[in-house]
Amino acid sequence: MTTTQTAPAPTGTVPASHWLDGGPYAGTSTRSGQVFNPATGEVTSLVAFASEQDVAAAVASAKAAFPAWRDTSLAKRTQVLFAFRELLNARKNELAEIITAEHGKVLSDALGEVARGLEVVELACGIPQLLKGGMTENASTGVDVYSIRQPLGPVAIISPFNFPAMVPMWFFPVAIAAGNTVVLKPSEKDPSASLWLAELWAEAGLPSGVFNVVQGDKVAVDALLAHPDVKAVSFVGSTPIARYVYETATRCGKRVQALGGAKNHMVVLPDADLDLAADAAVNAGFGSAGERCMAVSALVAVGPVADDLVAKIAERTATLRTGDGRRGCDMGPLVSQAHRDKVAGYVEAGEAAGASVVVDGRTVRPDGAAGGFWLGPTLLDHVTPEMSVYTDEIFGPVLSVVRVETYEEALELINANPYGNGTAIFTNDGGAARRFRNEVEVGMVGINVPIPVPVGYYSFGGWKASLFGDSHAYGAEGVHFYTRGKVVTERWLDPSHGGINLGFPQNH
Ligand code: NAD
Repeated sequence: MTTTQTAPAPTGTVPASHWLDGGPYAGTSTRSGQVFNPATGEVTSLVAFASEQDVAAAVASAKAAFPAWRDTSLAKRTQVLFAFRELLNARKNELAEIITAEHGKVLSDALGEVARGLEVVELACGIPQLLKGGMTENASTGVDVYSIRQPLGPVAIISPFNFPAMVPMWFFPVAIAAGNTVVLKPSEKDPSASLWLAELWAEAGLPSGVFNVVQGDKVAVDALLAHPDVKAVSFVGSTPIARYVYETATRCGKRVQALGGAKNHMVVLPDADLDLAADAAVNAGFGSAGERCMAVSALVAVGPVADDLVAKIAERTATLRTGDGRRGCDMGPLVSQAHRDKVAGYVEAGEAAGASVVVDGRTVRPDGAAGGFWLGPTLLDHVTPEMSVYTDEIFGPVLSVVRVETYEEALELINANPYGNGTAIFTNDGGAARRFRNEVEVGMVGINVPIPVPVGYYSFGGWKASLFGDSHAYGAEGVHFYTRGKVVTERWLDPSHGGINLGFPQNH
């Protein structure tokens, strides 16, 4: 993670730089931020914050590379994608270590993130099939009509701290495969994964300038949103920033998909298998210390299951080991001290408002350095919808149990929530599950599956305040987002079809 600062880098560190025209670029800005190892609390490096000029240089690099990359055959483009896939698969452990060192998530989880990113690279290897258009012969006499999809040009990707590899990979494999060029602005909290990926692209044979990285903060984001040569923006982050990015970039005439925050509910019906549900709640509530946009943060216990379910979750939570992600623990630290304190503040506010603290992560004894940003898994019961621990996205290892009497109450609670990213229902009643699937106002639904992140050949995206724009990420919608349609109506000269006719063209 980072904070803005003016102090010099720790001895021996070089600021993480930008990447353009196929190599590292130091930039012109004097601003930088500190990058921490959240498991020790130590500053491990600095990250340069791009100026407007640095962003202009990255976009110029992407713009210069576009014509040749757009005209590169699909056969050659896919060769580069296959090479990238092979290299990434062979060296995924290196990337996982980089993620753990700057984000804090445990190594196995970091590897899981890389695996889900690889899925989208594999999807993009099939781009020739995904880009196929339609063709109609003889739509009118001697006239053929066909559709093609073409790339947009330079596109910007702005990503959050919690998936420094996977979230960029939701976008750039498809964008590049479709013939666009990319400027990625990763989170300033964990900048190194993006540079590692840039080097890998170069090794895979991607021409210089097709994939560029600018490090930075709001200055870099604003410069990308306003730059006339950036044709589309894919953003992932918190809802207020997603809304801002969507409104600003659309005003600048760009195509935008802006994925925002979440409050994901998991409903447990009385007929559910409570052991399965308890396992799922623990995994989805505390994996990656709850710093996932698909984390379950509200457990909605319907009817008589609540007491048993809470007991089973508490029992499992007590077995979790919180500590340094490199030591085989179950759960790592939070990304920063400030974020750790904010999440602990929500637990305090919940307790003060009447929630019962069944498992208290504030008293955790971590397997890690004293300076790490530790907060253990926390289970709150008797949470009500007015409490801030329910209304706000907490983004930490806090699972709140809300007790309701009926399925209808559970549904009403979820549909009244401003977010609509993911949700899950646990039940053995197919009819109830089917009804939930139909009635719930959420973009991604799990049935006895707690974190329903779609596979690469479907598309990822929430509803309501969890996504601004109308295209979800990757899958067919990703291909659609990064291309625009053209329809060609074609006739080859036939001397019998001549003559002047000022009427509107009709098909004969
Ligand atoms: P964030 O909104 O703070 O930052 C996201 C990006 O926006 C970063 O690159 C950051 O540098 C930039 N940014 C921050 N402040 C800005 C500002 N004022 N103006 C312009 N740009 C700004 O989010 P985060 O803390 O990095 O990530 C966590 C959030 O991301 C959570 O809300 C989480 O739910 C969300 N998220 C959503 C999804 C999804 O698919 N919907 C996936 C992952 C994360």
